[in-house]
Formats: sequence, structure tokens, C-alpha cells
Amino acid sequence: MPESKRLRIAIQKSGRLSIESMKLLKSCGVKFTVNEQRLIAHSDNMPIDLLRVRDDDIPGLVMDGVVDMGIIGENVLEEEQIERERLDKPSTCIKLRELDFGACRLSLAVPNEFNYEDAASLEGLRIATSYPNLLRRYMQRKGITYNDCMLKGSVEVAPRAGLSDAICDLVSTGATLEANGLYETEVIYQSKACIIQSSQPQEPAKQALIDKILSRINGVVRAKESKYILLHAPTETLEQIVALLPGAENPTVLPLNDDTNRVAIHAVSTEDLFWDTMEELTKLGASSILVMPIEKMMG
Ligand code: ATP
Ligand code: MG
Repeated sequence: MPESKRLRIAIQKSGRLSIESMKLLKSCGVKFTVNEQRLIAHSDNMPIDLLRVRDDDIPGLVMDGVVDMGIIGENVLEEEQIERERLDKPSTCIKLRELDFGACRLSLAVPNEFNYEDAASLEGLRIATSYPNLLRRYMQRKGITYNDCMLKGSVEVAPRAGLSDAICDLVSTGATLEANGLYETEVIYQSKACIIQSSQPQEPAKQALIDKILSRINGVVRAKESKYILLHAPTETLEQIVALLPGAENPTVLPLNDDTNRVAIHAVSTEDLFWDTMEELTKLGASSILVMPIEKMMG
């Protein structure tokens, strides 16, 4: 297939989203080998090219139609969208779906000795961030004025280095903040990775491929969120047992050899089966309980 007919997907080259992005595409049946030195990885079984770039570049590449799809943190996507609206550059794309990785939050944090009451405590102060647009939008909504200190990295050391009074940075566990003598005061944006498509019209063959990938991603994510459950149950508590299985409306009930008082239940549950529920099940006489991961789901 000629270059232009191949679907181009931008993913982060190296960082927190890289491994999960590649794993997701591989689990959708896209085969490729990455050469660390190369920007592009060609899939050998589908007309797809992967562009491995800095995550900051992904939204722009998709919005300009340079690539057809991208996997990116919602925080970076929205930051770029606001920036481009301001500069009157193409700022639209289609968010196909949120993904189940890259969860983090953009938060305000201040030094431990700072007496923080609410965002108004930051009035007139300097805030270091790599997300000036998301911060500005939040503070404007609250009617608070502050001074910017734009840093691409090492935001968490800015207050100690005397560069700012507070920071607005990504947090997942809070360990980095703690290690730098800071505490989180307010979440301004919740983020996850997402998959986006260029809003430019696609030729039918490419659109069909995008739809196929999206449907496979839906199957992979659904499978990850579901479990296959097998157990033996006394017929007299069958109804109570089925009611305890989360999201398993229509389980398969099968007879057991040489045991008319018990049956086997096979069910797909939309949630994990937690220890507490398993203990409840055994109290109702269930035995041989197996909870298994599901790899793929369709239909
Ligand atoms: P690049 O070199 O590609 O520009 P980066 O240093 O900007 O990489 P990473 O630190 O790899 O970016 O983070 C990429 C994305 O991972 C973030 O924009 C965010 O969406 C997500 N993420 C999840 N957890 C965290 C976290 N604890 N800190 C930072 N980012 C996180
Ligand atoms: Mg980056």
C-alpha cells in the first residue's frame, strides 16, 4: 500500500504512556517491531505506521492532520487545544475513547509551611507549571490573579529554588510532592490516556481501519474489566449465589455428574470478584470457585 494510504498512529516514544500504548496496539492484533533509533515503526501485518514522538507533539500532529490517530494524556491534549485556540491554529480532533491507563491529576501544591485555605490563598503569588493554559482556565474561573512561572520540567523543585510560591503539577501517588516538602491542596484536572482521531474526513478504507481498531480496543478494554467465573453451587442457594455475582445477569447453569443437589455455574462478570464476595459465596455453600482473566471479547 502507498505511504499515504497507510494509517498513521502517533504514540509516545519513551515515557509513561509508551509501553501501555504499544501493548494496547499489539493486543488489537497490530504486529510491529520497534527500532529504538527510528521514528517510524511499520506494522508487518496491517497497513499501519507508528510514529514515535514526544508526547507534547502528538495533539498537534493529529489536529494538523499529519497523522490520523494518536494516543495521548487528556492533560496534554486539552493544554494544546487551549493553546491552539488562542493562536487561531487548528484545534479540533475526535476523542474516540478514554483508555484504562495513564491516570493522574493536575494539582496545585504548596510548601508544607504554607498556610493554605483555598485557591484564593494564591492571589498575587507565583505558580510554577508546565500546564499554563489549564492553570489559567482554572484560576480565571475562580477569579484569582497570579503570576506564571513556566517550566518544562523539575516543577516540583521550583519553590525550594526560590522560583515560585506554589506549583501546579501532575500527581499520581503524591510521593514526589512529599519528597520535595510540598503538599497537594486542590485537584484542577483529572486525566487518563485517550485515543484521538484527526477531524479531517478520512478515505473509506482508512476510516474502516480506524473503526476496526476502535472496536478491537473496546473488546480489549471490556475483557480487562471482566472476569470469567466458575463455581459449584447447591441448587437451593443458586438464586442467592447468582445475585452475588457482580454484573453476571445470565450465567450458564450446568448439571454435575452424580450430584443432583449441586450445579456448576459459568458466568462472565463485568467486575472483579473480590475476596469479600468469594467469602460470602462459600458461606452460601459455593465451592471450587475459579476467577479467570479474559483476553478478548466481541459481540
Ligand atoms: P516526553 O519526553 O514524551 O515529552 P514527558 O516527560 O512529557 O515525556 P511523561 O512523564 O512520560 O511525559 O508523562 C506522559 C503522560 O503520562 C503525562 O502527560 C500524563 O498524561 C501521564 N501520567 C500518568 N501518571 C503521571 C505522573 N505521575 N506524572 C506525570 N505524568 C503522568
Ligand atoms: Mg512531554
